[in-house]
Amino acid sequence: MRTQEQYLEGLKKMRPNIYLDGECIGRDDPRVVRASSAIRMTFSLVDNPEYEDLLTATSHISGKKINRFTHIHQSVDDLLKKQEMTRKICGACGGCVQRCMGIDMMNAISGVSYDVDQKYGTSYYQNFLKFLEYFQENDLVCAGSQTDTKGDRAARPSQQWDPDQYLHVVERRPDGVVVRGCKVHNTMAPYADELLIVPTRVMGPDEKDYAIAFAIPADTEGIYLIAREAFSTARKPEMDAPITSAGDLESMTVFDDVFIPNERIFLNGEVDMAGKMALRFALYHRHSYTGCKPGIGDVIMGTAALIADYQNIKKQGHVKEKLAEMISVAELVYAAGIASAVKSTKAASGTQVPNVIYANVGRRHAGHNIYHEFNMLCDITGGLPATIPGTAEYLNPEISKYVQKYVTRREGISPEDCYRAFMLASDLLTGEYSTVVFQVAGVHGGGSPIMEDIAILGSYDLNAKVNIAKHLAGIEVKDEEKK
Ligand SMILES: Cc1cc2nc3c(=O)[nH]c(=O)nc-3n(C[C@H](O)[C@H](O)[C@H](O)COP(=O)(O)OP(=O)(O)OC[C@H]3O[C@@H](n4cnc5c(N)ncnc54)[C@H](O)[C@@H]3O)c2cc1C
Repeated sequence: MRTQEQYLEGLKKMRPNIYLDGECIGRDDPRVVRASSAIRMTFSLVDNPEYEDLLTATSHISGKKINRFTHIHQSVDDLLKKQEMTRKICGACGGCVQRCMGIDMMNAISGVSYDVDQKYGTSYYQNFLKFLEYFQENDLVCAGSQTDTKGDRAARPSQQWDPDQYLHVVERRPDGVVVRGCKVHNTMAPYADELLIVPTRVMGPDEKDYAIAFAIPADTEGIYLIAREAFSTARKPEMDAPITSAGDLESMTVFDDVFIPNERIFLNGEVDMAGKMALRFALYHRHSYTGCKPGIGDVIMGTAALIADYQNIKKQGHVKEKLAEMISVAELVYAAGIASAVKSTKAASGTQVPNVIYANVGRRHAGHNIYHEFNMLCDITGGLPATIPGTAEYLNPEISKYVQKYVTRREGISPEDCYRAFMLASDLLTGEYSTVVFQVAGVHGGGSPIMEDIAILGSYDLNAKVNIAKHLAGIEVKDEEKK
């Protein structure tokens, strides 16, 4: 297993291909290093007794102890631990764990590449196993690049007026393929060692060139990581707090005729399996959401309860009701993830696959409630998070006494603790990172809300419920209507 220092050393050696704030930067740029803080925790916490059991696993291919973020789930327990680890780290870093993208995509590819080989006699699973060995041995960080730009939403990939709106193969060579296109909203791609690419959607018979999955180093020639930063509000060092390091870089990841060698390809033209790969990744990622959304919920409800105490309103009926509501949202989502793990099944490859219904209803419930959770926090904190003077004013000897005096709430709580609590609320309610990752990703990450409805309705046995209704109504259930 690597240390966080070794991870950063690895990034430093990569070719600069990140575009941010008008310049092309390397991975030793302070903004990239800062954005990687959550990922670094996944390395630094492996020896911490509180996290070790969650953050490490035994590789099913080498028998070695590995970081769980490189593990292929083999059991119900693995899925439960992945979910718990995700929740705990989100709480500890005050944001998105970010490294889930790689583990979710690796698990999806493991099961589906095996199925493709069984059907078509290809050797994608062998390619995958070779890559997995390298991935685990080097404790790599992978970004997951699934979402295409998609251009005209009403047109299929092959019907787009610009064929590059979905990433596709533009040239086939004996030793590999050349791809062109762009994957968007790629969380942490600027500080990932490798990019994992899978299709975004089901592909039709004439969309062979779009049915492509592969792994490629993130600094490969022809790849451009066009980044956007989102961080917690800057503070004076004297008033630093763990939340200050929360942030990320998102990337518009351009592939301008990038060569992918055969041994890095996991799907190439088997159109009927493209949708399966897309949905399998979404399933793993929605299961991860049943860990991270309760983790974010912990941060929101903890802040709400802390401020309610400092304001001396914690015994008020409407506050108690809101706290109970926040707990219910977080724990129902978490419970759905547990159910999804307990009711999981084994793919033919041996990879453990979460239950579709429970993972999707959990993710759906989280997405529907994310703005509601922030609404409740905002109600409890009052307006101060939006207007609180910055840390320079808090520290300015001329006016500090006023800031301290007028941010103070009930007796017995120091001005500094009051100020710190409201600054945390300010980061959550007005910070750019919370709007990117907590709110917009809370709705769209892992697929827009309608995609969960489609997954639920596509897998749920609604007919069995219709038969219950018919039985109760005294309507005959014909044999062909029974399952
Ligand atoms: C902060 C953040 C981080 C993310 N991280 C990653 C990542 O690391 N890797 C990754 O691959 N993806 C990532 N995503 C992408 C995420 O999965 C997508 O945002 C999501 O799938 C929606 O796609 P879109 O943003 O293109 O929205 P759109 O597809 O444009 O959706 C907008 C609306 O249009 C509707 N719509 C779109 N197409 C149709 C259609 N054909 N018929 C009917 N309605 C339609 C949608 O239902 C939705 O209501 C991230 C997203 C966010 C916000």
